[in-house]
Amino acid sequence: MTEMPEVEILVRGLREHVVGRTIQTAEVLLPSAVRFPAVPEFIAQLAGCMVTSAERRAKYILLGLSDELLLGLHMMLWGTLRLAPAVEARPPHTLITWRLDRDEELRLIDQLGYARAALGTPEAVSQGLGLHLLGPEALDPGFDVAALARQIGRRRGVLKSLLLNQRVLAGLGNRDADESLWLAGLDPRRSAATLTEAELTRLHAGIREMLTEGIAQGGTQRDLLGRKGRARHRRHIFERTGLPCPRCGTAIAITRLGGRRTHYCPGCQQ
Ligand SMILES: [Zn+2]
Repeated sequence: MTEMPEVEILVRGLREHVVGRTIQTAEVLLPSAVRFPAVPEFIAQLAGCMVTSAERRAKYILLGLSDELLLGLHMMLWGTLRLAPAVEARPPHTLITWRLDRDEELRLIDQLGYARAALGTPEAVSQGLGLHLLGPEALDPGFDVAALARQIGRRRGVLKSLLLNQRVLAGLGNRDADESLWLAGLDPRRSAATLTEAELTRLHAGIREMLTEGIAQGGTQRDLLGRKGRARHRRHIFERTGLPCPRCGTAIAITRLGGRRTHYCPGCQQ
């Protein structure tokens, strides 16, 4: 799945291989993949723009462009980006392409067709995508245990749902939330208000460990150039229902919380 580590790996690839280059033309193969503006405007505004920066905010990829424009991309569940020679056949499910200099093409690919792009001034993109509403970044150096306590401590709802709420905390997807809670030994159905100081400390450490290790391993997917990451999609409990917990041997259980599949160990997550 395309979660925060996978997005971070793509952003690092964009910084290395795409920043400083010029977009000659854009081609939209799936019109619904452009959230705004209208497709003809999207194509017209991108022509001739230079890519000046690549940043990540939560699971958004933000490409700064010349002409005071920002291109926002969201990979949703399985979307990805690939940089390839323009002559190379496009994979099926290519949604949008950006033709670059040196006869290369940046491609937005998603077998489910859910990935999305948006273009405008930084203010328009921030408003349109709700970037201004996002909570603190989970890997920001300033995001310490006290900050986690402030973000989740007084909110209603079960832990799992709070961790997925990007307005509470930016960066955790479904897989990484399940694995972080397992690392912390916390039941995803717990109310956040009941967490002790020690439990908050474990949760903070679990989130950090999950995300930093995912990034260090290059994510679970292929990067911008098609090189496979070494992180495992099924790590400890995610999509391992019925298999023994690697810590205590209890069969891993699955439930639904806030509409999302949630894997946990009934033996050692309390
Ligand atoms: Zn267990």
